[in-house]
Amino acid sequence: MDLSIVIPVYNEEENIPKLYEELKEVLEKLGKEYEIIFVDDGSTDRTYQILQELARKDPHVKVIRFRRNYGQTAAMYAGFQYAQGDVIITMDGDLQNDPKDIPKLLEKIEEGYDIVSGWRKNRKDNFITRILPSKIANWLISKVTGVHLHDYGCTLKAYRKEVAKNYRLYGDMHRFLPAVAKSFGAKITEIVVNHRPRIYGKSKYGIGRTIRVMLDILLVKFLNDYMNKPLYVFGGLGLFMAFLGFLILAYLAVEKIFFGASIGGRPLLILGVLLFLSGLQLISTGIIAELIIRTYYESKQDVPFRIAEVINFNQPSQGENSHNIKTTNNGTNLSEQKGH
Ligand code: UDP
Ligand code: MG
Repeated sequence: MDLSIVIPVYNEEENIPKLYEELKEVLEKLGKEYEIIFVDDGSTDRTYQILQELARKDPHVKVIRFRRNYGQTAAMYAGFQYAQGDVIITMDGDLQNDPKDIPKLLEKIEEGYDIVSGWRKNRKDNFITRILPSKIANWLISKVTGVHLHDYGCTLKAYRKEVAKNYRLYGDMHRFLPAVAKSFGAKITEIVVNHRPRIYGKSKYGIGRTIRVMLDILLVKFLNDYMNKPLYVFGGLGLFMAFLGFLILAYLAVEKIFFGASIGGRPLLILGVLLFLSGLQLISTGIIAELIIRTYYESKQDVPFRIAEVINFNQPSQGENSHNIKTTNNGTNLSEQKGH
C-alpha cells in the first residue's frame, strides 16, 4: 500500500459525499495503491450510514467507528494505527482542505522529508475567534519548540508511516506531532495549501481551544526538552530556592543568637521557611518524576532515543522499536571506513 488518507469526521453528513468525489478524482490520477480511512468520531447524524454506503461500493474506503466522541486527535491516532500506506495523509472531513493539494505533499515526501505540513496562507475562517488566536499560538509554538512552521493547526499534512505510527497522541496534541517528531530528528517542511470556507455543518471548536493549545505548548516544551531529565528542571529550581531560603534563615539565626534580636514577627522568616520548604518539595518532585520516567520507558520497553540506521548488524538486537530501524548490510564495515 502506497498511501493512506486519514480523515476524522464528526457529524459531517453533508460534506462526506462531495469530499469522497474530490478525493477519488485526485487519487485515481496518482496511479498509486491507496486507501481512504474515515474515522467516525461518534457522530450522531447520518455520517456513519453514509460511510457504510461508500465502503460497500468502494473497497478503497475503510471506516473506523468510535463508540462515542473522543475528539479529533484520538480519531487520527486510531486512523494511524490501522493505516497501511507508506505515506499517511491527514485532512479534515469538512471540505476546508483541498484534495488537489495531495500530489504536492507527496512530491515533498519523495524529496526525502518525513513530515510535510500544510500552510493555510489564505485561511477562510473568522478572524477574531480563529485566525488571530491561531497566529499567536503558531508564533509561540515556533518559538518554544524550535520547529518553524507557519500553521501547526492545519490538519492537511503528510507523514512517512514510521513517523506517524511512532507516537502516542493524547488530548489535542495532533498539532504538535511535527514538534515532537523533530525532537527525534525528523525532517520537516511546509507548503502553502488551499483553504476553503466551511459551507455545510458547523465548526466543532470555539475559543476554548486556545487555552488547551496554550497548556499543550507548555507540556510539549517540557516533554521535548526535559522528558529524559525532569530532575534538572524541578531540582534546579528547587535547589536554588532551598539555597536562598537557607541563606535567609542563617542570617536570621545569626541575628537571633549573636545579637539577641527577636525574629518571631519578621516577614523574612516566613519567606525563608517558605523558600526552603518549597525548594525541598521541588527537589523531591524531581526525583519522583525521574522514577516515573524510568517506569514509563521500561514498561513500554522503550528507549529515550531513535536510531535512523545501523550498519552490519544482522538484526536489531532488542526493543519494540526495532521495526523503526533501517538495517543496511552492504559489506561496509565501520572499522574499515574509519581506517588507521
Ligand atoms: N472532528 C472530529 N472530532 C471532534 C471534532 C472535530 O473528528 O470532536 C473533525 C471534524 O469532523 C472535521 C475536523 O475534525 O473533519 C476538523 O474539525 P472542524 O472543522 O470543526 O475544526 P476547524 O476547521 O473549525 O478548526
Ligand atoms: Mg474545519
